[in-house]
Amino acid sequence: MDKFIYECINCGKQYNASETIYLCPNCSKGNDELNPPKGVLRIVYNFLDIIKKINLFNEIKKNNFLPLLPIEKLDSLPQLKVGNTPIYKIELLNGEKLSFQLYLKDDSQNPTFSFKDRASAIVSAYAKEQGFETIVAASTGNAGSSLAGLCASQGQKAIIMVPESAPIAKLTQILMYGATIIPVKGTYDNAFDLSIKATEEFGWYNRNTAFNPLTIEGKKTVSFEIYTQLGENIPDRVFVPVGDGVIISGVYKGFEDLLNVKIIDKMPIIVAVQSEGSDNLTRNINNENFEVKASNTIADSISVDIPRNFYMAKQFLLKYHGEIITVSDNAILEASTILSKNTGIFAEPAAATAFAGLLSYQNNNKLDRESKNVVLLTGSGLKDLKSVQSVIKMPESIEPSIDNLKKLLS
Ligand SMILES: [Zn+2]
Repeated sequence: MDKFIYECINCGKQYNASETIYLCPNCSKGNDELNPPKGVLRIVYNFLDIIKKINLFNEIKKNNFLPLLPIEKLDSLPQLKVGNTPIYKIELLNGEKLSFQLYLKDDSQNPTFSFKDRASAIVSAYAKEQGFETIVAASTGNAGSSLAGLCASQGQKAIIMVPESAPIAKLTQILMYGATIIPVKGTYDNAFDLSIKATEEFGWYNRNTAFNPLTIEGKKTVSFEIYTQLGENIPDRVFVPVGDGVIISGVYKGFEDLLNVKIIDKMPIIVAVQSEGSDNLTRNINNENFEVKASNTIADSISVDIPRNFYMAKQFLLKYHGEIITVSDNAILEASTILSKNTGIFAEPAAATAFAGLLSYQNNNKLDRESKNVVLLTGSGLKDLKSVQSVIKMPESIEPSIDNLKKLLS
């Protein structure tokens, strides 16, 4: 019997795992460029079987969560240390003691400096087990560099399709890892579509998010870790930056798997934090028809017109009464500054977005005394130095004399 099955999030049809499948063939038929795609699949394990065999969280933890991962062996994973990132308890902000508990989950400590490594690691391991030698992805940034880095460590070939306008700085990391970059004329969507056609034509394995159901399975591991690092407790709230809805779905899926194997009995409140300039997911949650607003935000990794994992994120948020908040670019920049100065963690603007959400909750007294709050920091600030230029001032150089130095310091 297979370890898991695939289930379509739209029609509920199930598919067995013995062959590689991406979207539900029925539901994806009508997909077009103006709407979020339908037919995204989720992975469902035989939870009853797991409960029967393994009734202690320790057993699952000891095996690095393998019973809840869509791969056969831990050895298939990259040697690089993916996940198990630190969680930091922060007591003070701007010199004031916090009345609530604040934890920062720092996922910039992954091998390629972003949360995306969690997905790439599982995809890479699955490809290894199934005999795929080449993995393709469409990406403009973190996902592409993540796949390139992890494939380099596994001796696999990575092909990254990027829109031709992708900035050279972002491509440098990908090229250094030895991946093949294919610039595609047009937008990200054109690169995405070509990568899918190439998957069919050449038999490559495809890592695109909200297309390959395994990416969620990698991302969900962050929830297992949060639960473990809080002493096998769930937090009250987790603040998650939201763009295309994949990371938040991963966070939900992790806690939901723990619910399904009866390790936890309650879902924490997940707070979806979007940038005001790119709020297509949260703004459409209760809309009958999806309405696109062109994105414009400094938080590049969550700047999304059509959220590819819209339907799954929507289902999770509605089912588990998630909360929604949007923050302005100014609030994101301010949060980024506060975070760096108070904690020593320099996060990318998307991650600072989640922190801005927490600050807004704090300012509006929405956090109970002693409640446990986790902010998910998804990537390193070094990946996007340009966006914070407006909040720093580079000082003029001085002549090297002690008098000049005294003058400057006074
Ligand atoms: Zn379907």
